[in-house]
Amino acid sequence: MTMDDQRRDVLAANLAAVRERIAAAARAAGRDPGEVALIVVTKTYPAEDVLRLVSLGVIDIGENRDQEAAPKAAEVAEALGATGQASPRWHFVGQLQRNKCKSVVRYANLVHSVDSVRLVHALDRAALDRDSGQAGLDRGGPGIDVLVQVSIDGDPTRGGAVPTGDAGEDVALDRVLAAVAGSAGLRLRGLMAVAPLGWEPARAFASLAVVHARVRAEYPGASLLSAGMSADLEEAIRHGATHVRVGSAVLGHRL
Ligand SMILES: *Cc1c(COP(=O)(O)O)cnc(C)c1O
Repeated sequence: MTMDDQRRDVLAANLAAVRERIAAAARAAGRDPGEVALIVVTKTYPAEDVLRLVSLGVIDIGENRDQEAAPKAAEVAEALGATGQASPRWHFVGQLQRNKCKSVVRYANLVHSVDSVRLVHALDRAALDRDSGQAGLDRGGPGIDVLVQVSIDGDPTRGGAVPTGDAGEDVALDRVLAAVAGSAGLRLRGLMAVAPLGWEPARAFASLAVVHARVRAEYPGASLLSAGMSADLEEAIRHGATHVRVGSAVLGHRL
């Protein structure tokens, strides 16, 4: 057996275990396992691992830094293009700097981390520029799908718009949502969050579910909920996650 085969076997076994965890958590919550999408977060791992994952049936890939994701997405597209296979869907899940928007809209299918009014404007401009020019990849339609990231503990320094009324205008959740809804280039699809350090995941995701219900009442299209990682995906699924973002449980611990 080659080294390559061994790595693929490890990923296959890890994937099977994670899929079983997702299915068990969904059933325990009285939900259909098919309602919960697995995004495998491949940050720090090479394009070869993405290709192995795609060959194992993974269709959603997450990355958190544009500097790493842009060349990786291009490498994967080129390798798959040669075989006629479709590229995976790329999810941008990390903190996004405004000067990276132009790059991110060229490969990302869903941006999870929109968390300020200024970022909404920069991403909107980048999406509209991409669609008006000829330089972009074919994204299959104008605009880009986004999630608004919520700061569950109200501390915006670690990313996330603030759901309570005591935040500055740029990061107040209601303002960020309104800015996305009012933009021409962004489609509001839902919310994303990370459980704050030191919080019980169950408490964090219960609090997120309350925010999500309130947001959906105002924006019915905001039905997606990206929550849960390797350590806490069960609690997230119990509280309504439609997308879990799993890195280390599939790929191993990052160096
Ligand atoms: C790295 C990362 C993940 C995956 O984390 P694991 O604990 O490795 O599963 C999920 N979400 C975001 C935003 C990340 O940066």
